[in-house]
Amino acid sequence: MRWSDLCLICAGQQELVANIRERGPFDRSHDYTRVLFCSACSIGELRSFSYDGFVVFGEEDEVMVWSSVLSAPDVDRLRTAFTCPTPLAGICECPQHVRAYDTSLRVNKTRLPEYGPDRHSPAGRTTATLELVDGLVEFRSVS
Ligand SMILES: [Zn+2]
Ligand SMILES: [Zn+2]
Repeated sequence: MRWSDLCLICAGQQELVANIRERGPFDRSHDYTRVLFCSACSIGELRSFSYDGFVVFGEEDEVMVWSSVLSAPDVDRLRTAFTCPTPLAGICECPQHVRAYDTSLRVNKTRLPEYGPDRHSPAGRTTATLELVDGLVEFRSVS
C-alpha cells in the first residue's frame, strides 16, 4: 500500500521539508510526523500519519491522518533553524529531532476524514507555529 503526502488544497505533490519522526513502513504498520510544503499554494503543514494493520476490523480505523497548517514564513524559519544536518532522517534521535517530535505531540491537529466525499478535506484545520527554545525548533499551537 502506498500513502501520499499530497497537498490537501490543490492535491499537488508537496515537498518533504522535515521528517520529524518515522517508524516503518513495515508490513502492518507505519507512522510518521512530517513537515510538508506546497509551493503552488505557498502553505505548509505539520502532518501525522498512522497506519495500524493490526486493528480489528470495525473497532478502529486502520489509517489515521492529522494535520495542522504551518505558514510559509514558518516553514522557511524551520528550514534555517532546524539544527539537524539530516532533517529528512525520520529515524534520527538527535536533540533537535526529539524536541521537534515531543513538542509536535502537544500541537492541536485536525483529524482528517479518511472516507467519504470529505476525504482529507482541509476545512477547519488548526494552525501551528514554531518557537526557538535553547536553539532548538519547537512546535506550538496557535491559540
Ligand atoms: Zn497545494
Ligand atoms: Zn536529527
